[in-house]
Parts: sequence; C-alpha cells; structure tokens
Amino acid sequence: MNKVELSSKDTLFRNLPGIDALLQAMPYEVSRWGHEQVTSVCRGMIEELRDQIAAGAEPDLDVVGICAQVQQRLLLDDEASLRPVLNLTGTVLHTNLGRASLPREALDAVVTVAGQPSNLEFDLDAGKRGDRESHVESLVCELTGAEAATAVNNNAAAVLLVLNTLAMNREVPVSRGELVEIGGSFRIPEVMQRANCTLVEVGATNRTHLKDYRSAINDDTALLMKVHASNYRVEGFTAEVSERELAELAREHGLPLVTDLGSGSLVDFAALGLPAEPTAAEMIANGADLITFSGDKLLGGPQSGLIAGRKDLVEQIKKNPLKRALRLDKMTLAALAEVLKLYRNPAALLEKLPTLRQLTRNSEDIRTQAQNLREPVAKAIGSSFAVEVIDCHSQIGSGALPVETLPSACLCISPIDGIDATLRELAARLRQLPVPVIGRVQKGSLWLDLRCLEQDATLLAQLELLGS
Ligand SMILES: *Cc1c(COP(=O)(O)O)cnc(C)c1O
Repeated sequence: MNKVELSSKDTLFRNLPGIDALLQAMPYEVSRWGHEQVTSVCRGMIEELRDQIAAGAEPDLDVVGICAQVQQRLLLDDEASLRPVLNLTGTVLHTNLGRASLPREALDAVVTVAGQPSNLEFDLDAGKRGDRESHVESLVCELTGAEAATAVNNNAAAVLLVLNTLAMNREVPVSRGELVEIGGSFRIPEVMQRANCTLVEVGATNRTHLKDYRSAINDDTALLMKVHASNYRVEGFTAEVSERELAELAREHGLPLVTDLGSGSLVDFAALGLPAEPTAAEMIANGADLITFSGDKLLGGPQSGLIAGRKDLVEQIKKNPLKRALRLDKMTLAALAEVLKLYRNPAALLEKLPTLRQLTRNSEDIRTQAQNLREPVAKAIGSSFAVEVIDCHSQIGSGALPVETLPSACLCISPIDGIDATLRELAARLRQLPVPVIGRVQKGSLWLDLRCLEQDATLLAQLELLGS
C-alpha cells in the first residue's frame, strides 16, 4: 500500500457524515419512525460505509444519497410480513394462503367490534355477565338442527375438547379406515393421546362392520366416533358403517356418537353442482349426538371449530377448563356470526360468500376470462415466455373433497428456452411483487388458475410492475 492510497482512505473516513447530520436531514422520518429507530438504521448504514472504505471501495458519501438509502430501509422494515397475495394455485381453500376469504359483512363486523368495547360477554337485558357464545350459538342451532352448540379456535381444538371432555381416561373405538392425518400435524391417534383417551382400533383399513364396533364396546367405552374421510377415499373392496347404524348401536349401549365432519358444509353441495358432501344438518338428523367441523373450510368463515349437538353434552364441554384456552376472540365471533347469517338466505349466498362464489364459478366463464387476459399477460411477462389458455382442474382444498376436482381454465406460461431455471426465476419474480402472484408449477410450466381471480385488473396491475 502506498501513501497516496492511505491518504485517500483517510479522506473518505473523514468525509463520512455524522449521525446527527443525517438525523437533521430527515425530520419527517424521525417523527414517523422515532428517533431511536432512525438513529439505529443510520448507525448501521455508516458502519457499512466504513467497512466498504476499509476494503478499498470509494462509496458515495453524499448526505442526500445516504438519507435516501436510510429511508428505503425504514420503509422495508416497516412492511407487514403478513400481506395479501393472489391465489392462482387452483386450490380455493388453500391452508398456506389463509383458507376462506371473508365476505364484506364479516369484514365490517370485525372492524366494528375490534376498535371499541362491545357486549361480548355482557347481557344487556339483565345488566350482568353474559355468554360470548350467545352471538353464534342460536345461529349454529338454527342451521344444523342441533339443540346446542359451542365454538372454539379450529376443528382440531373442537375434536380435542370433545374427546378430553367425554372420554378422558376411557376408550374410544374408531374404524381403522378413519384414522386420518390432516396436513401432517393433526392425526386422530395423536389427538386421542393428547386428549388423554385410549384409541381402540376396530375393523380393517378397507372394511369395518357393525359387529367390529359391537365387540369393541365394554365398560370403559366412553363414546363411539366416526371421522369423515375428507382428504382421501378408500376404494375397491370396502365397507363402512353408516351414521344411522352406528347411532343405533350407540343408543343401545347408552353411548354418545361423535362425528368429526372435518369440512362440514351447511348447504347441499350436490344441488350447487359441486361434489356431494354430507351437511351438518344431515349428520345431526342421522343420529350424531355431537358433530365437529371447521369454520374456515367449506363454511367459508373465519378460522374456528364448531361443536353442535345434544345440550347436556355441549354443557359438559363448555365446563371443561380447556375450553377457556381454546375459546374464540371477539373478532372471530363477529365474523362467524355474519357468515352464518348469510346462510339464512340461500338465494343470495353464492353471490355474497367468496368461498362458495369461487367454488361454483363455471369453467366457461373462467375460460373466457383467461382468453381475455392472455394477451396482456403475455405482453407483461415478455418474449421469453409463451402464454396459452388451457383447461385445468381446480381443487377445493383443505382436505375438503380432495379426490374431486372442479373443471377450470388457466394461463399456462412456458419458457421459450425450455429451461426449468428460467421458469423458476419467473415464479420467484411473481412471488416478489407487492401483491405476490402465486401459481403452480406443473409439467414444466407455470399454471395460473383463474378461478379465484375476481378482478382482472388486480393481476394486470401487478404484472405491469414485473419489468421495473
Ligand atoms: C380439517 C380437518 C380437521 C382439522 O380442522 P382445522 O379446522 O384445520 O383445525 C379435523 N378433522 C377432519 C376430518 C378434517 O378434515
């Protein structure tokens, strides 16, 4: 190292602006983010510049330039980690993308109760403590035909709470064909263990008969349980015992029949042209003493788990100390009540509830939408990719009716060079957009299923930012 280099480094070090000078140049930032935060980002910047100079670089030390970078970092740090994305995966109820989108009525109700006190647990007539579930219980009863109902954090919590309340230290027979796993972290045998009850496996994987349940019943049996296979199907040489038969057997022995419905629809899916799914009301009518189902799967509401059925059993569940740990907050209760209310008017339901609106979109409409979008999308993505409209199949998602698909249409984007890395790079750029665009990579192409795209402009506005 010669002397000239040394002295130019010294000059650079000497020209580094002080923290105070930077702060003085950013009064707006200081008032918005606070003195401490801005100081800390400035300090980090100066440190980095010092390191660069020490390594022999000659960075720009202009105060305005440094302030611009500080501002950029402050904005970046301030960005919400949890933000909206465009779900073009073709899976309507995508657990990783937040499942059901709430209707306007529910969003308004959330905002209303979130920012001010409410009668959450206050009986306005009696002027004393009330029940937070009063806001949804009668609606659930009205829509399912159940005598009583309660609501918890999700369906996993509902199953756990029911088992822990009614079967602690006792036995629960379940068919070997129904020992389901949902998304890896929820498995019936493990939930049983955590609920402190003993799983008694009955029947075989493909066939379970009434006599299998009958021979499993003894003095330690707490209840009979049926789990709805919502994310797989046993096909071929199969047999399962219907709810009606099982309900009769349960009654003979004075045991409750509990059915975990999983998705739990409140309307007849077949009548909507969708794959058939048992409704909550059917299950109650078929003799289930308690049913459990999710609030954010086919129901289309907020994350929650519903328990409905016999009043004496629901009363016991409400008294379990675990209930307090699993209860719903006011925002979820407000949203759930609004979603349930929409079910009172089936004629307007499909239009108002995003989940059902998207599930029932017909493939012709989606194909027309794809044809209209093809050209502007191709233009925005650039000449390295070919964009075609092709037919595809959407999934309902969240383990709801997984073996059934819905005919749909998508924009199929393929790299002209046929190189996988080119496609992955595009998929990554789409995920980096302010409103990330999430598709699915299939057969060497990126498929954008348009079933859940309700406004074309939302997608185009994002794609326009790709070049910048
Ligand atoms: C989805 C599902 C659950 C879990 O419900 P969450 O609301 O996701 O907690 C439990 N049982 C069955 C059969 C399911 O399909």
